[in-house]
Amino acid sequence: MTRTPHLASRLQGFGTTIFAEMTALAVKTGALNLGQGFPDTDGPAEVSQAAIDAIRNGVNQYPPGPGMPDLRLAIAEHQARFYNVEIDPDTNVLVTAGATEALAATLLALCETGDEVIVFDPTYDSYAAGISLAGATMRGVLLHPPPEGEAAFSFDPDELARAFNPKTRLILLNTPHNPTGKVFTSDELQLIADLCVEHDVIAVTDEVYEHLVFDGTHELLATWPGMAERTITISSGGKTFSFTGWKIGWAMGPAPLIAAVRTAKQFLTFVNGAPFQPAIAVGLRLGDDYFDEFRHGLLAKRELLCEGLDDIGFTVFRPHGTYFATVDIRSLGFENGIDFCLALPEKAGVVAVPSAVFYQDHRDGLPLVRFCFAKNDQMLNDSIDRLRAAFA
Ligand code: PMP
Ligand code: GLN
Repeated sequence: MTRTPHLASRLQGFGTTIFAEMTALAVKTGALNLGQGFPDTDGPAEVSQAAIDAIRNGVNQYPPGPGMPDLRLAIAEHQARFYNVEIDPDTNVLVTAGATEALAATLLALCETGDEVIVFDPTYDSYAAGISLAGATMRGVLLHPPPEGEAAFSFDPDELARAFNPKTRLILLNTPHNPTGKVFTSDELQLIADLCVEHDVIAVTDEVYEHLVFDGTHELLATWPGMAERTITISSGGKTFSFTGWKIGWAMGPAPLIAAVRTAKQFLTFVNGAPFQPAIAVGLRLGDDYFDEFRHGLLAKRELLCEGLDDIGFTVFRPHGTYFATVDIRSLGFENGIDFCLALPEKAGVVAVPSAVFYQDHRDGLPLVRFCFAKNDQMLNDSIDRLRAAFA
């Protein structure tokens, strides 16, 4: 690989994120952007009004280091309300600049040089970079696409067991999983918990799509026996409230682990998002109808996009969670998803993301392509029409 000038070795190979690259391509070509995962409509008006009010009312200086007390309280209330998990807002919660900073601060705080971090491969792109910044090594356990007729991506339990070794510091679990849409099952969480306890490994869970589970239920690894004391649970308001640009996230866990993560966060951003913190607290306290409608709305979009893609002839892996659908392009006679996605804006006027870039070894996901369906129905229908005209 050619070296990028000036860039330190721990960031070599991490160039520009695929999301920025694909969104730039969408802007340049005028193509419909089903690449980067962000919604094309704002979230609830009472949440944005709360941010506007906060700015007008002078909530504009550095907030407290752990995050504003009322937001931490709202986060604790949310965990009790949805998962029956009791946490202390003062010692078990840290507010961060999105889940991205919570992940980075956790890795930087907990990993020594040479430690290993187990991940399920493919991973969201910031994991590999965060692990590398922390001087650790990523150890992937492959998620296999489901065979015909089955629903979910799966992993080999023996491969997971073999990944644990004396160098293992953390396992990083993303459920619901980006990009595959997999929701990890109770049996799978049990297996992960057993291995963490046996090998005295800390788990870090990325649950930013917690309110986007369509099939199955979202379960917290932290609730398994022996896991509360060794799990950092991470989430954010970006996906749940459709304000991805606000970057209010949080990490939750036992006081000593959260204190360690706070130490790292202090020197990354110190604090963040003062007027957005009370607004996200308003969001977390919205009634059940908000969360139900949010999920149902995206479920309908999942059906719309997946049925359209299926009809065109793609092999579609209907996601159990998240707002991403994965297809295999071999059913249409293509092999290489990277080439396919680079050509797609010109050929069809649509942007998608090649799943290969989420894999440690691109070849493991080469024929897979990810489409985001958090878009208005008109755009989804237009995208399907364009893809049909190009391929069907
Ligand atoms: N984790 C996953 C799996 C994601 O898809 C994303 C992007 N939305 C993030 C973390 C980053 O979340 P945030 O925008 O809150 O930093
Ligand atoms: N999480 C979003 C995705 O997977 C994008 C976030 C980003 O651009 N970093 O598409």
